[in-house]
Amino acid sequence: MPNISYNKWQKIKEAFLKSSKWQSMRQQIISRDGGVCSICGFDTSLNVHHIKSHYYFPDLALDPDNLITLCQKHHKEIHNNKTTKSALVKYYKKQYEERPIKK
Ligand SMILES: [Zn+2]
Ligand SMILES: [Zn+2]
Repeated sequence: MPNISYNKWQKIKEAFLKSSKWQSMRQQIISRDGGVCSICGFDTSLNVHHIKSHYYFPDLALDPDNLITLCQKHHKEIHNNKTTKSALVKYYKKQYEERPIKK
């Protein structure tokens, strides 16, 4: 667990979400995912979600492999653990199979 207070974290996160790095990565991820929610295909109110939490894995905050486009509903559900992660895993397996290995 990162050694910072929750309040401090909130400030870091806020600044991150406003950063131009994040804004352009966000756009990139949404277009990579075809401009739709990766679970249901809905195309409005899109959020880009960190699969491995930004808090625990700050190094992955701008890693495209750690980012996924979700609609607001599914984003909420993922955070409330209502949508099983298996939906994401399934999507990810598919992505990895279809995507040429880059590293
Ligand atoms: Zn959705
Ligand atoms: Zn999220």
